[in-house]
Amino acid sequence: MGLEDIRARIAKAEAEAGRDPGSVTLIAVSKVQPPERVEAVLQQGHRCFGENRVQEAAGKWPGFRDSFDGIELHLIGPLQTNKTRQAFELFQAIHSVDRPKLANTIARIAQEEGHCPDLFIQVNTGEEPQKAGILPADADAFIAECRDMDLPVQGLMCIPPVEEEPSLHFALLAKIAARNGLAGLSMGMSGDFERAIALGATHVRVGSAIFGERVAAHPA
Ligand SMILES: *Cc1c(COP(=O)(O)O)cnc(C)c1O
Repeated sequence: MGLEDIRARIAKAEAEAGRDPGSVTLIAVSKVQPPERVEAVLQQGHRCFGENRVQEAAGKWPGFRDSFDGIELHLIGPLQTNKTRQAFELFQAIHSVDRPKLANTIARIAQEEGHCPDLFIQVNTGEEPQKAGILPADADAFIAECRDMDLPVQGLMCIPPVEEEPSLHFALLAKIAARNGLAGLSMGMSGDFERAIALGATHVRVGSAIFGERVAAHPA
Protein backbone atom coordinates (compact mmCIF):
# COMPACT_ATOMS: atom_id res chain seq x y z
CA MET A 1 0.00 0.00 0.00
CA GLY A 2 1.05 3.54 -0.66
CA LEU A 3 2.56 5.49 -3.51
CA GLU A 4 6.08 4.05 -3.40
CA ASP A 5 4.79 0.50 -3.37
CA ILE A 6 2.49 1.11 -6.34
CA ARG A 7 5.28 2.80 -8.29
CA ALA A 8 7.52 -0.21 -7.66
CA ARG A 9 4.81 -2.63 -8.73
CA ILE A 10 4.20 -0.64 -11.92
CA ALA A 11 7.94 -0.68 -12.72
CA LYS A 12 8.04 -4.43 -12.20
CA ALA A 13 4.97 -4.99 -14.38
CA GLU A 14 6.48 -2.80 -17.13
CA ALA A 15 9.70 -4.83 -17.02
CA GLU A 16 7.87 -8.16 -17.05
CA ALA A 17 5.84 -7.08 -20.06
CA GLY A 18 9.00 -5.97 -21.86
CA ARG A 19 7.81 -2.39 -21.84
CA ASP A 20 9.92 0.74 -21.40
CA PRO A 21 10.31 2.08 -17.87
CA GLY A 22 7.94 5.00 -17.42
CA SER A 23 5.66 3.97 -20.29
CA VAL A 24 2.73 3.67 -17.89
CA THR A 25 1.22 6.82 -16.37
CA LEU A 26 -0.04 6.44 -12.82
CA ILE A 27 -3.27 8.35 -12.22
CA ALA A 28 -3.77 8.53 -8.46
CA VAL A 29 -7.54 8.45 -7.99
CA SER A 30 -8.25 10.84 -5.13
CA LYS A 31 -12.07 10.94 -5.21
CA VAL A 32 -13.68 11.10 -1.78
CA GLN A 33 -10.28 10.93 -0.03
CA PRO A 34 -9.65 13.26 2.90
CA PRO A 35 -7.51 16.26 1.83
CA GLU A 36 -4.64 15.33 4.16
CA ARG A 37 -4.16 12.02 2.34
CA VAL A 38 -4.10 13.81 -1.02
CA GLU A 39 -1.69 16.40 0.30
CA ALA A 40 0.63 13.66 1.58
CA VAL A 41 0.83 12.19 -1.93
CA LEU A 42 1.48 15.66 -3.39
CA GLN A 43 4.26 16.11 -0.82
CA GLN A 44 5.82 12.88 -2.09
CA GLY A 45 6.10 14.54 -5.48
CA HIS A 46 3.22 12.92 -7.33
CA ARG A 47 1.35 15.26 -9.68
CA CYS A 48 -1.10 13.19 -11.73
CA PHE A 49 -4.53 12.65 -10.18
CA GLY A 50 -7.95 11.38 -11.16
CA GLU A 51 -11.39 12.51 -10.02
CA ASN A 52 -14.77 11.14 -11.06
CA ARG A 53 -16.94 14.18 -10.36
CA VAL A 54 -16.52 17.67 -11.77
CA GLN A 55 -18.14 19.29 -8.73
CA GLU A 56 -15.92 17.51 -6.25
CA ALA A 57 -12.79 18.35 -8.24
CA ALA A 58 -13.85 22.00 -8.46
CA GLY A 59 -14.09 22.19 -4.70
CA LYS A 60 -10.76 20.57 -3.99
CA TRP A 61 -8.15 21.18 -6.69
CA PRO A 62 -7.93 24.96 -7.15
CA GLY A 63 -6.63 25.11 -3.57
CA PHE A 64 -4.02 22.39 -4.15
CA ARG A 65 -3.00 24.15 -7.37
CA ASP A 66 -2.22 27.28 -5.37
CA SER A 67 0.25 25.27 -3.28
CA PHE A 68 1.72 22.77 -5.78
CA ASP A 69 2.96 23.34 -9.34
CA GLY A 70 2.42 21.04 -12.29
CA ILE A 71 -0.72 19.24 -11.18
CA GLU A 72 -2.35 17.22 -13.95
CA LEU A 73 -5.98 16.22 -13.45
CA HIS A 74 -7.86 13.47 -15.26
CA LEU A 75 -11.65 13.20 -15.27
CA ILE A 76 -12.44 9.49 -15.03
CA GLY A 77 -16.17 9.64 -14.25
CA PRO A 78 -19.26 10.50 -16.29
CA LEU A 79 -19.51 14.01 -17.72
CA GLN A 80 -22.83 15.81 -18.11
CA THR A 81 -22.80 18.05 -21.16
CA ASN A 82 -23.70 21.11 -19.09
CA LYS A 83 -20.50 20.67 -17.06
CA THR A 84 -18.23 20.41 -20.10
CA ARG A 85 -16.91 23.97 -19.95
CA GLN A 86 -16.10 23.61 -16.27
CA ALA A 87 -14.36 20.31 -17.04
CA PHE A 88 -12.17 22.13 -19.60
CA GLU A 89 -11.03 24.53 -16.87
CA LEU A 90 -10.10 21.79 -14.43
CA PHE A 91 -8.94 18.76 -16.36
CA GLN A 92 -6.06 18.02 -18.72
CA ALA A 93 -7.71 14.78 -19.82
CA ILE A 94 -11.24 13.36 -20.02
CA HIS A 95 -11.51 9.56 -19.97
CA SER A 96 -15.29 9.31 -20.22
CA VAL A 97 -16.23 10.41 -23.74
CA ASP A 98 -19.08 7.98 -24.27
CA ARG A 99 -21.75 9.42 -26.57
CA PRO A 100 -22.18 11.59 -29.66
CA LYS A 101 -23.95 14.41 -27.81
CA LEU A 102 -21.00 14.80 -25.45
CA ALA A 103 -18.50 14.59 -28.31
CA ASN A 104 -20.39 17.36 -30.11
CA THR A 105 -20.41 19.56 -27.04
CA ILE A 106 -16.68 19.00 -26.48
CA ALA A 107 -15.99 19.89 -30.12
CA ARG A 108 -17.98 23.10 -29.87
CA ILE A 109 -16.34 24.21 -26.62
CA ALA A 110 -12.89 23.29 -27.93
CA GLN A 111 -13.55 25.66 -30.85
CA GLU A 112 -14.63 28.44 -28.53
CA GLU A 113 -11.84 27.96 -26.00
CA GLY A 114 -9.07 27.26 -28.50
CA HIS A 115 -7.88 24.18 -26.62
CA CYS A 116 -9.12 20.74 -25.68
CA PRO A 117 -8.15 18.23 -22.98
CA ASP A 118 -6.75 14.88 -24.13
CA LEU A 119 -9.67 12.56 -24.75
CA PHE A 120 -10.26 8.88 -24.10
CA ILE A 121 -13.37 7.14 -25.39
CA GLN A 122 -15.01 4.95 -22.78
CA VAL A 123 -16.02 1.52 -24.06
CA ASN A 124 -18.57 -0.58 -22.18
CA THR A 125 -16.65 -3.81 -22.80
CA GLY A 126 -18.97 -5.85 -20.57
CA GLU A 127 -22.07 -4.42 -22.29
CA GLU A 128 -23.55 -3.69 -18.87
CA PRO A 129 -26.82 -1.75 -19.13
CA GLN A 130 -26.13 0.37 -16.03
CA LYS A 131 -22.62 1.31 -17.12
CA ALA A 132 -21.52 4.21 -19.28
CA GLY A 133 -19.54 3.72 -22.46
CA ILE A 134 -20.01 3.06 -26.12
CA LEU A 135 -20.76 -0.58 -26.99
CA PRO A 136 -17.85 -2.51 -28.56
CA ALA A 137 -19.85 -2.98 -31.78
CA ASP A 138 -20.31 0.79 -32.08
CA ALA A 139 -16.79 1.80 -31.10
CA ASP A 140 -15.17 1.99 -34.56
CA ALA A 141 -17.92 4.25 -35.90
CA PHE A 142 -17.84 6.50 -32.82
CA ILE A 143 -14.06 6.83 -32.95
CA ALA A 144 -14.32 7.83 -36.61
CA GLU A 145 -17.06 10.33 -35.76
CA CYS A 146 -14.87 11.93 -33.07
CA ARG A 147 -11.95 12.14 -35.48
CA ASP A 148 -14.16 13.80 -38.07
CA MET A 149 -14.81 16.48 -35.47
CA ASP A 150 -11.01 16.90 -35.04
CA LEU A 151 -11.20 15.81 -31.42
CA PRO A 152 -7.84 14.87 -29.88
CA VAL A 153 -8.65 11.22 -29.16
CA GLN A 154 -5.65 9.67 -27.42
CA GLY A 155 -7.12 6.29 -26.65
CA LEU A 156 -9.78 4.16 -25.04
CA MET A 157 -10.89 3.53 -21.48
CA CYS A 158 -12.82 0.70 -19.82
CA ILE A 159 -14.10 -0.38 -16.42
CA PRO A 160 -14.56 -4.18 -16.52
CA PRO A 161 -17.55 -5.82 -14.83
CA VAL A 162 -16.79 -6.49 -11.17
CA GLU A 163 -17.51 -10.20 -11.36
CA GLU A 164 -15.49 -11.04 -14.46
CA GLU A 165 -11.84 -11.68 -15.22
CA PRO A 166 -10.62 -8.20 -16.21
CA SER A 167 -7.96 -9.48 -18.61
CA LEU A 168 -10.60 -10.44 -21.18
CA HIS A 169 -11.88 -6.86 -21.12
CA PHE A 170 -8.40 -5.36 -21.26
CA ALA A 171 -7.59 -7.53 -24.26
CA LEU A 172 -10.80 -6.49 -26.02
CA LEU A 173 -10.08 -2.81 -25.38
CA ALA A 174 -6.52 -3.22 -26.68
CA LYS A 175 -7.82 -4.92 -29.81
CA ILE A 176 -10.31 -2.13 -30.56
CA ALA A 177 -7.60 0.48 -29.98
CA ALA A 178 -5.09 -1.31 -32.23
CA ARG A 179 -7.44 -1.66 -35.17
CA ASN A 180 -8.24 2.05 -34.89
CA GLY A 181 -4.62 3.13 -34.57
CA LEU A 182 -5.03 4.50 -31.05
CA ALA A 183 -2.04 4.36 -28.69
CA GLY A 184 -3.65 5.18 -25.35
CA LEU A 185 -5.23 2.56 -23.09
CA SER A 186 -6.73 3.74 -19.80
CA MET A 187 -7.34 0.51 -17.92
CA GLY A 188 -6.46 -1.12 -14.62
CA MET A 189 -7.38 -0.16 -11.06
CA SER A 190 -6.11 -1.14 -7.59
CA GLY A 191 -7.01 -4.80 -7.95
CA ASP A 192 -5.85 -5.44 -11.50
CA PHE A 193 -3.40 -2.80 -12.75
CA GLU A 194 -0.58 -5.31 -13.26
CA ARG A 195 -2.77 -7.41 -15.54
CA ALA A 196 -3.73 -4.23 -17.41
CA ILE A 197 -0.06 -3.31 -17.89
CA ALA A 198 0.65 -6.80 -19.23
CA LEU A 199 -2.04 -6.15 -21.86
CA GLY A 200 -0.78 -2.70 -22.84
CA ALA A 201 -2.27 -0.14 -20.42
CA THR A 202 -0.70 3.30 -20.85
CA HIS A 203 -2.71 4.86 -18.00
CA VAL A 204 -3.65 3.01 -14.82
CA ARG A 205 -6.20 4.53 -12.43
CA VAL A 206 -5.30 3.51 -8.90
CA GLY A 207 -7.18 4.83 -5.88
CA SER A 208 -7.55 2.77 -2.74
CA ALA A 209 -4.20 0.98 -3.08
CA ILE A 210 -2.48 4.38 -2.80
CA PHE A 211 -4.71 6.31 -0.44
CA GLY A 212 -6.41 3.56 1.57
CA GLU A 213 -10.05 2.59 1.49
CA ARG A 214 -12.48 5.33 0.55
CA VAL A 215 -14.79 6.50 3.28
CA ALA A 216 -17.99 5.36 1.54
CA ALA A 217 -19.65 8.75 0.94
CA HIS A 218 -20.13 7.99 -2.73
CA PRO A 219 -18.41 4.91 -4.12
CA ALA A 220 -17.36 4.45 -7.75
C1 LIG B 1 -12.69 4.92 -8.32
C2 LIG B 1 -12.21 4.61 -9.66
C3 LIG B 1 -10.93 4.03 -9.87
C4 LIG B 1 -10.01 3.63 -8.73
O1 LIG B 1 -10.51 2.52 -8.06
P1 LIG B 1 -9.61 1.73 -6.97
O2 LIG B 1 -10.20 0.38 -6.96
O3 LIG B 1 -9.76 2.47 -5.70
O4 LIG B 1 -8.23 1.75 -7.46
C5 LIG B 1 -10.53 3.81 -11.15
N1 LIG B 1 -11.30 4.14 -12.21
C6 LIG B 1 -12.51 4.71 -12.07
C7 LIG B 1 -13.31 5.06 -13.27
C8 LIG B 1 -13.01 4.95 -10.80
O5 LIG B 1 -14.23 5.52 -10.65
